[in-house]
Amino acid sequence: MEFFDKLTKKASETYKGAAEKTGKLAREAKLKIKINENKSKINDIYEEIGKKVYQKHTSNEDICIKKDLEDECGKIDVLSAEIEEYHKEILELSNEKACVNCGEHMGLDAKFCPKCGKEQPEIKEEPAKEVEVINENVSEESSSEEYNEESKEECNTEEGNTEESNNQE
Ligand SMILES: [Zn+2]
Repeated sequence: MEFFDKLTKKASETYKGAAEKTGKLAREAKLKIKINENKSKINDIYEEIGKKVYQKHTSNEDICIKKDLEDECGKIDVLSAEIEEYHKEILELSNEKACVNCGEHMGLDAKFCPKCGKEQPEIKEEPAKEVEVINENVSEESSSEEYNEESKEECNTEEGNTEESNNQE
């Protein structure tokens, strides 16, 4: 009997896993459609921009991006940001990450990109942090503050450098 119990249990687990996977695949397919829709919208806007530029050429006028193409560029910004969000969601669904260099998808534990070979930064698993002992939170907070200060300093020196180079010009 025990054998059969195990079998049924395993079968129901497999079914559950399969159903979950189908749901994820359906969601992923929808996201991919949305990405393609946004891409074609962006291409339409590119065409509008092209037309505007050519019209300015035929009427011998200068084109000002800020003035003449602000609407179009703003729309592309929004559509591009949406595409990025959809890509992120797809990655989360498939438990994958994107290469920091070329965008190739790979498993979360991959240390190097299978396409371009770029070393990938380690992913800090947030859910694991929450499980950690509460006492450690104090030291964690102080260390993250230190880190922030360091990064601020870096920003300041960079700003200083750009100012210097501006002065030289
Ligand atoms: Zn890569």
